[in-house]
Amino acid sequence: MESPKTALLHGPHGARDDVPAQRAAHFPLIRLDHVSRTHDETGIPVRALDDVSLEIARGEFAAIMGPSGSGTSTLMNIIACLDRPTSGTYRFEGHDLGRASDDIRTRLRGELFGFVFEHFRLLPRLSAPEQVELPLVHHIPAHRRARAVAVLRDLGLGDRMDCTPAELSGGEQQRVAIARALVAAPSVLFADEPTGALDPATSHEVMELLTRLAREQGITVILVTHDAAVAAYADRILRMRDGRIVEDTGRREPASA
Ligand code: ADP
Ligand code: MG
Repeated sequence: MESPKTALLHGPHGARDDVPAQRAAHFPLIRLDHVSRTHDETGIPVRALDDVSLEIARGEFAAIMGPSGSGTSTLMNIIACLDRPTSGTYRFEGHDLGRASDDIRTRLRGELFGFVFEHFRLLPRLSAPEQVELPLVHHIPAHRRARAVAVLRDLGLGDRMDCTPAELSGGEQQRVAIARALVAAPSVLFADEPTGALDPATSHEVMELLTRLAREQGITVILVTHDAAVAAYADRILRMRDGRIVEDTGRREPASA
């Protein structure tokens, strides 16, 4: 089923007008066809992604794994509209987002995507609810705070509301960051090494939380990790090497149309 938010992809201000909203659910959520990404800023071309074709279904929890430099972050960044393919096509619900305008890509990032990073990226002076309501700049102030508090409570941070990051443990900081990523009800949650700065016990808690979100809220989760124990929480594991996907296990059977 199409999420209501993806309606913004359609109509006169949408990314493309050629896919009526009611048909969007028939397209895979995420589809890459022969996507390559070459960096040549230094004069020496580096092929970070090399002819990657891939589909990710709604509600899938997929881990992208690979040795350092294998292209895992580049793949995630292209799907998240933080980077563009040099060649090939990236479609989201049938829309060619690889070639959409910067404006549309920025808007979609805010409306459809949530982000969790290795080092949390919280602002040092803000309390947990202040951090979490930041993405809701366009909402009514009273609603922003209520929504932020509700998400923090749901993530088990009800008694940590007054704390700034320095007063929180690493695991709590990452939970605040996950709350911030979820507050605008994204369709896809991207997590690049979300446990890289955490000890094993805390990593386990954070991964249990991401698993619960994927299962209970139907959020599509795309996780990048070098850690096999972390990737094991995902339903599907994509292994990369030298900019290519070399193994893809646990893929959900595509629903027949
Ligand atoms: P990973 O996240 O798997 O460690 P990346 O996707 O960050 O790998 O990078 C893949 C390859 O592309 C690496 O060889 C990296 O050095 C190169 N690369 C990434 N970003 C840039 C850039 N901005 N300029 C030049 N090379 C880059
Ligand atoms: Mg990386």
